[in-house]
Amino acid sequence: MARSVHRAKTVAFCLLFVIAAAVVLPQAAVAAPVLKEGMTGSSVKELQRRLSEWGYPVEVDGRFGPLTKAAVEKFQKERGLAVDGIVGAQTWRELEKSPALIHVVERGDSLYVLARRYGVSIADIMQANNLSNDVIVIGQKLTIPKKAAAAAASEGLAAAASSGQVYQVRPGDSASVIAKKFNTSVPALAEANRLSDPNRLRAGQKLIIPGWQANIPRLIWPVKGRISSPYGWRIHPVYKNRQFHGGIDIAVPVGTSVKAAAAGKVIESGWMDGFGYGVVIDHGQGVTTWYGHNSKLLVKVGDRVRQGQVIARSGNTGVSTGPHVDFRIKVNGETLNPVYWLP
Ligand SMILES: [Zn+2]
Repeated sequence: MARSVHRAKTVAFCLLFVIAAAVVLPQAAVAAPVLKEGMTGSSVKELQRRLSEWGYPVEVDGRFGPLTKAAVEKFQKERGLAVDGIVGAQTWRELEKSPALIHVVERGDSLYVLARRYGVSIADIMQANNLSNDVIVIGQKLTIPKKAAAAAASEGLAAAASSGQVYQVRPGDSASVIAKKFNTSVPALAEANRLSDPNRLRAGQKLIIPGWQANIPRLIWPVKGRISSPYGWRIHPVYKNRQFHGGIDIAVPVGTSVKAAAAGKVIESGWMDGFGYGVVIDHGQGVTTWYGHNSKLLVKVGDRVRQGQVIARSGNTGVSTGPHVDFRIKVNGETLNPVYWLP
């Protein structure tokens, strides 16, 4: 009795499933629903998958938010559709086409160069254009299989995320500020992220930082004061020649407490020639902070310091023309401009 009830239930359940599948699946495949901002669900996910195949940066999270709307509008604009941010029948039809872009060959282009630029293989380009050899000529129109490009881009993003090379755009960021922050250039950022317009970044957008390998902790100012000499090229105040200044000079009276900009381990504390009495703190992942020209050092090599801990008293030692702290950030030996990393 119990068994037959169970079997009946099972049969009914299976039958229900078959009916549901028969009714729901073909409908979803034939009539794509009209989608707009605020909607959620699997068809939104499908929309986002298609947008990302076309190379538009969206997160496939099934939520039609402002980022998805912006991508839809961009897609509509670039495909010559009415731009309303609403995905109706026409937009769906366009989305279902095979994503590709056309590149007109310029001087200096080769299949190798194009394959690298678009993140596809040389074989992909040859196949998409029925090329039998690698000869291309200026003015020739080549189809770039964008699906492969988008896949490579998202793969790149995933790989970059695992090694800490992804930066999430904050409100007010511009491409040039981000480039300065990470010692890179706007063209390098645009290329790594396939940005068609690097001047139009959105808060929350994720960017690959080319060549970036570190995770810089949140920093605090080691001392508060006027920046008497900024980061970058300058005429050296003592040697009077053009030199690169790898830090910022913060003018403060001798004896001011110098604080650790972030927690870490002291790897140098002592006389450092032109840098005077200096301290270097290691924050891991190749990131160090440097504090120079002090009058007194309060930590020794091997000490672990907290953020804000007083590590030295400022001074005017080494090659220096007045009391100040020379503060530097280095990542794998390369300096960064500290002003982009301080609050
Ligand atoms: Zn300096």
